[in-house]
Amino acid sequence: SGVPIGQSVIPLVNKLQDIFSQLGSASTIDLPQVAVIGSQSSGKSSVLEALVGRDFLPRGSDICTRRPLVLQLVQLVRRPDDKSDVMEWGEFLHTPGKRYTDFSLIRKEIQAETERELGSNRGISDKQIRLKIFSPSVLNITLVDLPGITKVPVGDQPSDIEARVRTMILSYIKHETCIILAVSPANADLANSDALQMARMADPDGSRTIGVITKLDIMDRGTDARNFLLGSAIPLRLGYIGVVNRSQADILGNKSIREALAYEDNFFRSLPVYHSLADRCGIPQLAKKLNNILVQHIKAILPDMKARINTQMVTLSKELASYGELTDSKTGQGALLLNIITRYSQGFASIVDGKNEEMSTS
Ligand code: GDP
Ligand code: MG
Repeated sequence: SGVPIGQSVIPLVNKLQDIFSQLGSASTIDLPQVAVIGSQSSGKSSVLEALVGRDFLPRGSDICTRRPLVLQLVQLVRRPDDKSDVMEWGEFLHTPGKRYTDFSLIRKEIQAETERELGSNRGISDKQIRLKIFSPSVLNITLVDLPGITKVPVGDQPSDIEARVRTMILSYIKHETCIILAVSPANADLANSDALQMARMADPDGSRTIGVITKLDIMDRGTDARNFLLGSAIPLRLGYIGVVNRSQADILGNKSIREALAYEDNFFRSLPVYHSLADRCGIPQLAKKLNNILVQHIKAILPDMKARINTQMVTLSKELASYGELTDSKTGQGALLLNIITRYSQGFASIVDGKNEEMSTS
């Protein structure tokens, strides 16, 4: 089954958000952005789409990403008595109020909006397209699809296209909180990977770069990606994940994400060379790795959050004490609130201590 990005982190984040809302303050859990970088047609949009688990991005051999797409996933929280059909939709910043429930229309609108700014030629702009996807089953996180690095200008691209794209990419990945998915195709030399080279510039110690190797299915006969995945070619602290996305023929044939994931799973099972590397193979493993990084991030900011909660609890207790024996109902309410906070704090503590199986990182 496909594991969309953040799936196992959702309960953790929701619990923390509950704590904050019980305390009457807005949620302040800022999750890092995730950006995909790499050369043109390396498979960036395909990887992003597979992680989100929906078909909505323009991708293909001649339809490329020419403006940054900032994709905000927004979790819809349903009331318990809400019996309506599960709803998922997209909304663009440039078409306020318009809900796209048909995801293929989202793809069309991304293309149309790209062309409104840039025409149908190959020009590239750093003007963002901003899209929100609302769904009950996503984590509140921002993903960024970026234009690919090209060496040779085509169409009406300026002669300094490569430098421009590099500057644009750097402006996203230079932020310490940005997780970089450095995408390199397996059918090219990893030593020449634009993605890894740029990632190293922005993140020299490799603390927030995941290497993603695409196109394992179309490597030269007799070769495999074992050394790439092991990091023996170019070591990377957070390591590499190999994936198989849909080919151009699959796109033309409308292969679904579900079918693609089944195909990928079967691909890795059928090749003994990947058996001992199962934890580095496949989109679900990439999602898992990302989730672990998000959990690490949350763990790192927990002490600060805990301190803030403690301060608020002290204030609350004082307030409660100041009510004195004023009214029974007020005391009752206060006690109830304290009770709730204490319960949440216990859950909170077990998360901090990593007792929560689901949340622990490997
Ligand atoms: P981007 O330019 O980096 O965003 O790349 P896309 O995601 O648009 O993919 C470029 C082309 O490569 C498309 O035709 C995809 O179908 C194809 N592609 C991407 N990943 C794979 C893969 O793992 N295997 C195969 N066979 N084709 C892929
Ligand atoms: Mg793309």
